[in-house]
Amino acid sequence: MNAKRSPTDAAMFDRQAFRLDASDAALIDGARQFGQRVLAPRAAKHDREATFPIENFRDMHGAGLLSLCVPKADGGAGADFRTYCLAAAELGRFCGATALSWNMHVCSTLWTGPLADDIEMSAEERAGHIRRRKLHYARIVSDGAVYAQPFSEGGAAAAGAVAFGTEAKAVDGGYLVSGKKIFASLSGSADYYGVLCTERAEGEAASRRNTLYLAVKADAPGVSVTGEWDPLGMRGTVSRTLILKDVFVPADEMLMPRGIYFRAATTWPHMFMTLCPTYMGLAQAAYDFTVQYLRGELPGMPPVKRRMYPTKQVAVAEMLIMLEQTKALYFQAVSEARANPSKAQVLRAYATQYTVMENAQAMAAKAIRTCGGQAMLKSLALERIYRDSRCGSLMLPWTAELCVDRLGREALYEAGEKDE
Ligand SMILES: Cc1cc2nc3c(=O)[nH]c(=O)nc-3n(C[C@H](O)[C@H](O)[C@H](O)COP(=O)(O)OP(=O)(O)OC[C@H]3O[C@@H](n4cnc5c(N)ncnc54)[C@H](O)[C@@H]3O)c2cc1C
Repeated sequence: MNAKRSPTDAAMFDRQAFRLDASDAALIDGARQFGQRVLAPRAAKHDREATFPIENFRDMHGAGLLSLCVPKADGGAGADFRTYCLAAAELGRFCGATALSWNMHVCSTLWTGPLADDIEMSAEERAGHIRRRKLHYARIVSDGAVYAQPFSEGGAAAAGAVAFGTEAKAVDGGYLVSGKKIFASLSGSADYYGVLCTERAEGEAASRRNTLYLAVKADAPGVSVTGEWDPLGMRGTVSRTLILKDVFVPADEMLMPRGIYFRAATTWPHMFMTLCPTYMGLAQAAYDFTVQYLRGELPGMPPVKRRMYPTKQVAVAEMLIMLEQTKALYFQAVSEARANPSKAQVLRAYATQYTVMENAQAMAAKAIRTCGGQAMLKSLALERIYRDSRCGSLMLPWTAELCVDRLGREALYEAGEKDE
């Protein structure tokens, strides 16, 4: 008899239905298989212990996932924004914390690679950028270096409202960086921290235009990690506080040329949507769990069927409707992401982020209510999916609240318009 198929044997975004080309689909399916085989069996332990799954990242190196978005010319798979988003959603089905942490790592390659290629730079800036990013890609491709992405500081900077409080002072050969970053996923485990900070000369006012994006070596003098990590969800991200005190960062560690991060943030706004894929995967996971559970096919559970009750069928129908709505909007937004998007595309990106983050949580809550008491035992994945999905709408810079703020304002006002 054939082994029973699991819902996770099928891609979330079917190649033919979503018209993906073969090479993109192969990368995305590789991520799904990796999640199923490697991430799923390890997820519960890291969640329970709030430990970072570094072995997942070592295995990702072998599987080519650390260099998914590194250009082919530099030894990577050359994946674009959409392929990343679809692959990351597949990982999110199996371990939210790993997918979210992997996002932080991938941004250091996606932003410096395909996104930076779309940003206007002088020939000199471009040549310097290409030379520097090669150093950084070689570490990832050859040595399996892992990058974190700490930008949150607990103030208004992570929302993009003011300049980062972490500051870089130009000195001979590089910068001296000081500041504090909260919620630094991969803290204590990453090899480099991709730090966003403000370059500021003596007496100069801090400006977002002077944002620098620097790779800070984790063991450089002046770098330390502090604080507890015992949160509700996404426990395996180990997002503790990063302290930087007069850390010397060589000029070659600039991940983008001066002034280019600010230009990227305004030219390529979808760059802030990359936290969304993990939660798209969690929404799918909540649905998959519910179907398997009600069919009495969940591994480790007695084969008791609960699918014959009309109320269960209605709940599953409602979940599927919500899932299909979410996937359709998500696919559209990640497919149309580009430099200089239209206003409608930017509004759709906010609407997508809001929808994915809120619906992942709503679907996980509904899955528990529908499956029943046994489904929320810690021995099963749903309870973790429920807690992990709760974190989505809190992620800056595009929290659910900020997306609503921007949608309302930008739908009603054109740029520069004011009321008397
Ligand atoms: C599991 C997890 C992992 C994380 N990993 C990382 C990471 O690796 N790197 C990283 O940089 N950050 C990370 N974060 C941090 C995250 O992006 C947020 O910065 C953090 O959750 C903000 O928490 P806060 O309470 O300080 O937010 P606050 O700044 O106090 O904001 C609270 C809420 O107020 C609203 N708000 C904030 N600013 C404004 C504004 N200007 N206008 C209107 N409303 C506003 C927002 O809705 C926000 O949710 C992580 C968070 C979680 C939960």
